Amino acid sequence: MTEIKSETSQMPHVLIIGGGFAGLHCAMKLADAPVRVTLADRHNYHLFQPLLYQVATAVLSPADIAAPIRRVLRHQQNVRVVLARLLGVDLENKLARFPRGDVSYDYLVLASGATHSYFGKEEWANLAPGLKTVDDALEIRRRVLLAYEAAEWEADPAARQAKLTFVVVGGGPTGVEMAGALKEIASQTIPKDFRHIDTTTAQVILVEAGPRLLAALPEPLGQRALKDLQQMGVQVRLNSLVTDVREGEVSIGADLLPAENIIWAAGVRGSEVAESLGCELDPQGRVPVAADLSLPGHPEVFVVGDLAHVEDAATGQLVPGVAPAAIQMGQHVAKLIKQERAAGKPLEPRSPFRYRDKGGMATIGRNRAVAHIGGRHFSGFLAWTIWSLVHIIPLIDFRSKLSVIFSWFWSYFSLSKSARLITGRPKLKVKTALGVVSGSEEQKR
Ligand SMILES: Cc1cc2nc3c(=O)[nH]c(=O)nc-3n(C[C@H](O)[C@H](O)[C@H](O)COP(=O)(O)OP(=O)(O)OC[C@H]3O[C@@H](n4cnc5c(N)ncnc54)[C@H](O)[C@@H]3O)c2cc1C
Repeated sequence: MTEIKSETSQMPHVLIIGGGFAGLHCAMKLADAPVRVTLADRHNYHLFQPLLYQVATAVLSPADIAAPIRRVLRHQQNVRVVLARLLGVDLENKLARFPRGDVSYDYLVLASGATHSYFGKEEWANLAPGLKTVDDALEIRRRVLLAYEAAEWEADPAARQAKLTFVVVGGGPTGVEMAGALKEIASQTIPKDFRHIDTTTAQVILVEAGPRLLAALPEPLGQRALKDLQQMGVQVRLNSLVTDVREGEVSIGADLLPAENIIWAAGVRGSEVAESLGCELDPQGRVPVAADLSLPGHPEVFVVGDLAHVEDAATGQLVPGVAPAAIQMGQHVAKLIKQERAAGKPLEPRSPFRYRDKGGMATIGRNRAVAHIGGRHFSGFLAWTIWSLVHIIPLIDFRSKLSVIFSWFWSYFSLSKSARLITGRPKLKVKTALGVVSGSEEQKR
């Protein structure tokens, strides 16, 4: 990467990896700091992951929930945005390795987030896509819509039912939201669009290894989510550990579920960047950091957001992998860097990170959600309204807010999902009237 030569070149260089919640908010908070900031991301957009399942289920389009990082930061003169994937870090020489060369830093902020975890069964990834990026969401949307197309053409009842069976693995917020949305598509959105199949017979099965749904929320809210999903017609299987995933079927011990559509919402691990640090990671591949979010032994390196394993300085509890925590961590690090630049020397000790827990929530379907805010529990329409507001306000730009509000109104009153386009090709083979649609080609069989 070429260095920018200007009068600011002598200023300390803050290199931020990742333009997600943590990295972006760190960069924005450094707007008035006497530092040069470089923000590198492998994508050119900031993604609002909490609404990603709505892209996967055709309610929203990708541009509704993603914004170019370059545009978001266009008015901030001390930031340079680069499209680049970090390969690793040379901690001793303070160098970040990119495919086109090394970049030196005075401060490094690692905010590269998390990725899916298949618990050592990486071969399941292609069979059961997870939901983390725009590409993941489009792959799921493609497979879901193609499943109905394939079922419409299928003469054999058992094969048709397998095509109309959707298994969602993982009963956290993403799994609950996906399962509810898939059932709504089958029972409300598309029944009138097909002639041969009855889409209301589509089965949505939510499989959770633990004894309850939404384990991060209080027990009564998990119970309420279970009741709501069951009322909507979702089959929920608790205490059910998925032991194998093969093309067209899922095993839960000796129990075999024929299902052509499998979606993975069961686990995450820190992004692969963590492995290049050479330190011991936690079992989820996250980087254990000191109370100020720095890498032990390297006060110039910070790890923030989903990639960090950090205990809250006030409660001793592990800080959860949620957007507010990532934002707060990014802002905390920016504050520390600003304080050090103002003092002109390293601060000893630095103030520890304190997480302000704003509660948690999950939406289940139309007029159905659960929320835990300020120690109070909400459910039903009220929780759904709160959920909607809470997910509109933090969208990064005004255009996205307007677009999402319009799509939601449209979807609410028409019961229709406007982004139902099948584009590209699924990674897995799907037999439709077009032939076998797969990977990069259409085979005429
Ligand atoms: C489907 C889904 C639903 C969610 N729902 C909620 C919710 O309702 N409420 C909530 O609070 N939280 C939710 N979360 C969690 C929340 O989105 C995360 O906690 C948050 O995004 C973490 O922010 P981050 O900045 O650490 O990582 P991310 O937002 O994941 O950003 C990481 C960035 O790093 C970039 N990157 C990764 N590797 C590299 C590399 N090698 N080089 C360069 N760039 C790289 C990525 O492209 C990305 O832009 C959800 C997450 C998902 C996946």
